[in-house]
Amino acid sequence: MWQTLGQDQTIRGLEHGLAAGRLAHAYLLVGPKHTGKGTLALDLAQAVNCEAGSPLPCGECRPCRRIAAGKHADVLTIRREESRTEISIDQVREVQHRASLKPTEGRWLVFILDGAEEMSAEAANCLLKTLEEPAPRALFLLLTSREARLLPTVRSRCQRLALRPMPREQMEQVLGKRGVEHQHAALVARLSRGRVGWAMLAVQESSEVWRRRSQVTERLAAIPGASFSDRFDLAAEWATHFSRRREQALEEMDLWQDWWRDLLLARSGCAGFTTNWDYSEQLQQQAQGLSLKAIADFLRDLRHTRWALEVNANPRLALETLMLHLPHFEEVA
Ligand SMILES: [Zn+2]
Repeated sequence: MWQTLGQDQTIRGLEHGLAAGRLAHAYLLVGPKHTGKGTLALDLAQAVNCEAGSPLPCGECRPCRRIAAGKHADVLTIRREESRTEISIDQVREVQHRASLKPTEGRWLVFILDGAEEMSAEAANCLLKTLEEPAPRALFLLLTSREARLLPTVRSRCQRLALRPMPREQMEQVLGKRGVEHQHAALVARLSRGRVGWAMLAVQESSEVWRRRSQVTERLAAIPGASFSDRFDLAAEWATHFSRRREQALEEMDLWQDWWRDLLLARSGCAGFTTNWDYSEQLQQQAQGLSLKAIADFLRDLRHTRWALEVNANPRLALETLMLHLPHFEEVA
């Protein structure tokens, strides 16, 4: 059973390749965070090492179970170390060394490079040599949410698999099958922006993802009452968060964008299409205190700030400027 959800076309292509023994030696799995790249990588690692004899992973045999548990000696995941800013050349050299040896436990060595765009230039060039002279029985899976940051020479050595966002109706069904109550499934499906991994995390018990969403949304709902100094405190806190947990801080920015897009919809009389409809009352109220132009301008500021942060602007400066641009909310009687 493939654990990957919502990527039927890609899976069919892979099954054909597996059945015919014609897999590429390197794949580039492309898609936003939480779209299922990691799950697909593990699925593939299982499929090439599965003992059940079909082109799909059985999930039951010893190799399948060991891979799922992260214990298989021939399936290695490489990602940036927490204390570093890049995947280092030493990490890639280790991969090269392992790739020159035979599998010890299964049939295939599988190297999963998670966040491949974080390879240093040296590391990427080093990996390139391995990709140019593929070792037999070695499969490379490069996972990225920021494809453009990878060296074109590395990209061109991989077969590209783009993960698609899951349509909302399908997401609701998937969540429904897992016992998620209908209203909540509909809300999570809207908020997920098609990212199935995010949705699955959001519906877990005491979910961290959901807790963060609630926290950020509560904050957004309280913005009209925030004083100038509150806004600067927020910018400072956000900037600190940014330097520690970049991805999470960017995700927070996405939640801000969702909220302000919702305000635009609510202000235009299309409240039924909002994403955060569990906050429709607050959205309605805020929207009435703003002009359409003010909302649209701030949305543009948000997009610009996100872009600036992506290309490494100073977070504190960028976020303070953003807070200065927060429009004034008129009191609504
Ligand atoms: Zn199996």
